[in-house]
Amino acid sequence: MLVVMQSQATEAQVRAVCEQIESLGFRAHPIPGEGRTAIGITGNSGTVDTGSLESMPGVVECIPVSKPYKLVSRDIKSDNTIVRIPTPCGEVTFGGKAIGIVAGTCAVETREQVFAIAERIRTAGGRLFRGGAFKPRTSPYSFQGLGEEGLKILAEVRERFGLGIVTEAVDDDSLDLVEKYADVIQLGARNMQNFSLLKRAGRARKPVLLKRGLAATLDEFLMAAEYVMSEGNYQVILCERGIRTFADHTRNTLDLSVIPAVQRLSHLPIIVDPSHGTGRRNKVLPLSRAAVAVGADGLLIEVHHDPSHALSDGPQSILPDEFDRLVREARDIAAIIGRTLN
Ligand code: PEP
Ligand code: MN
Repeated sequence: MLVVMQSQATEAQVRAVCEQIESLGFRAHPIPGEGRTAIGITGNSGTVDTGSLESMPGVVECIPVSKPYKLVSRDIKSDNTIVRIPTPCGEVTFGGKAIGIVAGTCAVETREQVFAIAERIRTAGGRLFRGGAFKPRTSPYSFQGLGEEGLKILAEVRERFGLGIVTEAVDDDSLDLVEKYADVIQLGARNMQNFSLLKRAGRARKPVLLKRGLAATLDEFLMAAEYVMSEGNYQVILCERGIRTFADHTRNTLDLSVIPAVQRLSHLPIIVDPSHGTGRRNKVLPLSRAAVAVGADGLLIEVHHDPSHALSDGPQSILPDEFDRLVREARDIAAIIGRTLN
């Protein structure tokens, strides 16, 4: 159920409606839009008695939301959500005219490695640095990440290069730490349906970068975002990172058609990760070009200065020089479709 407020409704009127919703035993989610505020109601398994709400000052109408996802839906908010990430070198936005780039290493290996890559990302104009301190690996014998030590190195990167930090949390304990050290909490493909972790991220105060599950349908992807939003965190960036298909010429099949499909159904920004999406260095640039052209709100790129010695995802990591070129070409393609680069 959705309560649509008049465009001139006051904050006090919105608050009063929220209080009424809560007093009925539901949860209220006021979502301000360009023209008006809508208040999503969750926690209702049956129908809400809308009589008491519809007669309140400032209310236009109550409308049922038929889709299984409610807060992520364009029904509640017709204009795009812009997720804003303050970094020491300026604000990065996802979902507006400007396209955001997240770039860096798959895993934080050493301070030297991370600093060498971060320096090149910064020089190329990057503002958000990624690096995993907690790595969800297929094999328990593969490098699992440096843990909190890695987060401390990332905090040094912010300090030294002015880059905002994006890093993955794999469980509640790591999420507590990631929330403390990073600017954006990444939830990986393998955890897209870890519902308790999604709820924990929904209670966090930092934006969430939610990657599509290894074989998730569009509805499952949006429902995962709904879990985060249902707990009150509305700063969600979706990320297409390829799905498992019969094709074996790439690591995954990058589903670029999901970008316009998501944008039609949801107001949330969606970015593309061609690194995990292809698993092959030589395919990252072509698919980055395509992602920008198809209308993605951003890119997530793995870069390594010495990929043959990388502890994780070396074959898909591009070299810093290739990243320079990628940024230049992404900017040129963005301009053709009336967008810019953050
Ligand atoms: C990553 O971003 O390094 C990662 C593990 O990605 P995914 O969850 O998409 O596999
Ligand atoms: Mn990786």
